[in-house]
Amino acid sequence: METFDIVVVGGGPAGATFARIASGGGRSVLLLDGNLRGKPCGGLLAPDAQKALARFDLTLPKDILVDPQIFAVRTIDLKTARQRYYQRMYINLNRDKFDRWLLSLADSAVQVRRGRCTALDRTGGGVAVTYRTDAGERRTVLGKVVVGADGANSIVRRSFFPPLHTRSYVAIQQWFPLQEERCKAFYSCIFDPDTSDCCSWSIHKDDYMIFGGAFAPHGCRESFERQKEKLAPFGFRLSQPVKTEACMVLRPTGLRSFCCGGSGVYLIGEAAGLISPSSLEGISSAIVSAVALRQSLETSDPGREYLRRTRRLRWKLTLKNLKCPFMYQPLLRNLVLASGLSSIRLYDGERDSL
Ligand SMILES: Cc1cc2nc3c(=O)[nH]c(=O)nc-3n(C[C@H](O)[C@H](O)[C@H](O)COP(=O)(O)OP(=O)(O)OC[C@H]3O[C@@H](n4cnc5c(N)ncnc54)[C@H](O)[C@@H]3O)c2cc1C
Repeated sequence: METFDIVVVGGGPAGATFARIASGGGRSVLLLDGNLRGKPCGGLLAPDAQKALARFDLTLPKDILVDPQIFAVRTIDLKTARQRYYQRMYINLNRDKFDRWLLSLADSAVQVRRGRCTALDRTGGGVAVTYRTDAGERRTVLGKVVVGADGANSIVRRSFFPPLHTRSYVAIQQWFPLQEERCKAFYSCIFDPDTSDCCSWSIHKDDYMIFGGAFAPHGCRESFERQKEKLAPFGFRLSQPVKTEACMVLRPTGLRSFCCGGSGVYLIGEAAGLISPSSLEGISSAIVSAVALRQSLETSDPGREYLRRTRRLRWKLTLKNLKCPFMYQPLLRNLVLASGLSSIRLYDGERDSL
């Protein structure tokens, strides 16, 4: 069987970052990704993720950016029709291009293969990783160490570890060609307690507007469609999407919502449950956890060291739950919106045209 020092399953921000920094020192690294394109995502690089990239002294190539760049979010409560603008410093990206760029930074010592991992089994020398190629062939490789960077529905996590104590949602996102009459919400965050206890969003990306939201799995598509109808009075034209995407998204509730792995099988990024429960921002945690694991593998007890190195991140994400009631509990949210606290006050003419 072909053998690698490290097999990474998943080539998103977590897997790509890990593979890039794990090669070297004669280590053989294989990265497997089942779908190098098409991850549903808002594609916004938050300040924490910007900082994580800056720590590698990395800058973004211009062709990853999309139009427009945004610096405010329009927050809408559909039940009370209250709206406010808040300043936010995000970078608006093409998520596919961002992932491919991160992956392109890995040196030639990293083998990248397109293949969907279908089974993992512990053997004497490590873990046998079976994957299916695009051509339908079944292949098995041996990883002395296996890194699960395969996102919310991680097969690596499900194969070796108990289920996470977390909330899971189905995120649905649709792409609409921009109409001449542009909706003014270049970036909006939408709350509607009737259809979801999480949030939805709209973002302009070049010639498209994407609208997406996270919904309880049961009846998710129906809730999504009902919410779209409610957005018409707010200026959203959400008919005839050209693309519909969906995936699972996690919302950690506490420290037991995370699993870092151990004994030669480790989890990074969203596979480990590392995502913000308040904003669903996950790119920064993906990068930070990849770095923490890489540093831990150098030590005599990588499992314990990886736990230690991610302690601060896990607490930070857990503490974000304290913010959630003010965003997701309708009464508290409306008190915040009514108060106008920290919001941007629009000029009168602009407010009238909303
Ligand atoms: C709708 C939505 C919008 C979001 N918007 C934002 C945002 O704007 N900003 C932000 O910071 N975060 C956002 N997030 C969160 C963010 O997308 C994730 O937290 C982040 O991508 C996690 O990175 P990752 O590398 O851990 O996992 P992922 O990005 O999910 O990557 C996992 C990779 O593993 C591959 N894979 C999965 N299963 C297998 C398998 N069996 N075999 C081989 N490969 C496999 C997938 O193809 C994928 O490439 C959003 C999430 C959702 C669902």
